[in-house]
Amino acid sequence: VAAEWNQTRGSVVAGERILVIDDSPDIVDMIQTLVLESEGYEVLTATGGEEGLEMILAENPDLVILDERMPRMNGLEVLEALRDKKVEVPVIFCTVHGSEDLVIQAFRLGVRDYVMKPFELDEMKDAVTQALADVESHREEEALVAQLQQQVQQMDEVCKQAEKERSKLEAVLQETGEVIIVLDPDQQILLCNSMARIVLGLSADVEGKVASDVIEHGALKELFVSVVRANRTLRTELTVNDDKTFNAQISPIEDVGYVLLMQDITHFKELDRVKSEFVSTVSHDLRTPLTTIQGYVGLLETVGELNDEQLEFVGRIRTSIADITELIGELLDLGRIEAGYDLGMEPLHVESIIAAVVDEVRPEVEEKGLDLKWKRRPLPLVRGSPARLRQVVENLLHNAITYTDEGGWVSVELDEDEGHIVVRVADNGIGIPWADQPYIFERFYRVETAQTQEIKGAGLGLTIVRSVVEKHGGRVWVESRPGVGSVFTFVLPTME
Ligand code: ADP
Repeated sequence: VAAEWNQTRGSVVAGERILVIDDSPDIVDMIQTLVLESEGYEVLTATGGEEGLEMILAENPDLVILDERMPRMNGLEVLEALRDKKVEVPVIFCTVHGSEDLVIQAFRLGVRDYVMKPFELDEMKDAVTQALADVESHREEEALVAQLQQQVQQMDEVCKQAEKERSKLEAVLQETGEVIIVLDPDQQILLCNSMARIVLGLSADVEGKVASDVIEHGALKELFVSVVRANRTLRTELTVNDDKTFNAQISPIEDVGYVLLMQDITHFKELDRVKSEFVSTVSHDLRTPLTTIQGYVGLLETVGELNDEQLEFVGRIRTSIADITELIGELLDLGRIEAGYDLGMEPLHVESIIAAVVDEVRPEVEEKGLDLKWKRRPLPLVRGSPARLRQVVENLLHNAITYTDEGGWVSVELDEDEGHIVVRVADNGIGIPWADQPYIFERFYRVETAQTQEIKGAGLGLTIVRSVVEKHGGRVWVESRPGVGSVFTFVLPTME
């Protein structure tokens, strides 16, 4: 430690510039050569107060050894001039015995040390070393203070920046059209935006209170409880004030607590309702005139014999009526499924439903010369609507048969997987172009290629399939390669 200290000290003092001011050239010389240069300091000299003062101002030395007694301008006068000019420089004051009162005055003027004349060389050396060490530690102190000040300033900047960001974020949160409530881990309200106050009728001072104490809404209270248990994002649809529907989502957020977001979807719900109502009203209203047309077309043949051309026209009218009737049937079905009407859920065995559909399509399969692969196996019970699930299997099998050329095969496979039953309807038919695959479950979407041109359909079959499967809590997807074939898979949750 001592060695280290000496080293630091050594490096501190060597090379420092020291100004010696004394009217006696001998003393100046002595201090210069015997005290200072031998220690490696750079030395400046002046043999009068005025000259010394000028040098201090011009050279800014690290230390000044200043004699008291000098003609014209003495040491104290130099110190006073420095004070007046607000120049700070460390000074060792040299004076003679008996003038201690001068030393006191000199200390008042900021002198660091004094040496009484006559002095021993070591005495002066020690005073210089000490003064320079003081200077150095003073400098270090100043550097440290400056560094600290800079850090404080930087912190200040960071804080200001963070505060700016925070207030921007807060403004966005406050002004957004969505309900936002941030809770801490104990579900005390940290932030509640203006929309939340309006929608949930909260007062201005809810921050800091436990959410379920101030929020009256029953379903929301339940959501606060459930999210703690589930510890993951939960979503639900909520009705507020009997006339507004919201999509609510609550998520646990690490180091914060929970965030509740609610989006007003009343408008979309209403649009959806109007659209479904429109579709079912129109489809329903179309059925009556269609039935009339169908009836009269049937009667045509009974009122007189028709020639071949007339018979052909009647045949075409019949086919078109059948097409429209099917389309209307599908539209009505979709409307009902989406609205959740007549789903009539019951425990059932999907394999029995599939077996019945397979029997139903067998003639169609044979007529087209296709190979039908179907191996029945027992599956766990599923809660579902027999009629709707039958429709799912019918649509998938019907498509597989329709979109497979003569001589090909279609298959139905059953499987089980972690609380789900898995049904795969596959074929080695024309397949589906990659670009169309993402859209085939959408309403009215049909693939338009040379191969599908002749095939009739409204593009609603797969939409119905997806709606039914999703209403049963399941999922459906397709894997297909153009020219190779397609596999449609649907999974449904089992009752256990
Ligand atoms: P569509 O009434 O046209 O059959 P779907 O909704 O049932 O309507 O099917 C949408 C489109 O998906 C079809 O037009 C057809 O191009 C394609 N598609 C469906 N199933 C298959 C399949 N098994 N093989 C090839 N293409 C298929």
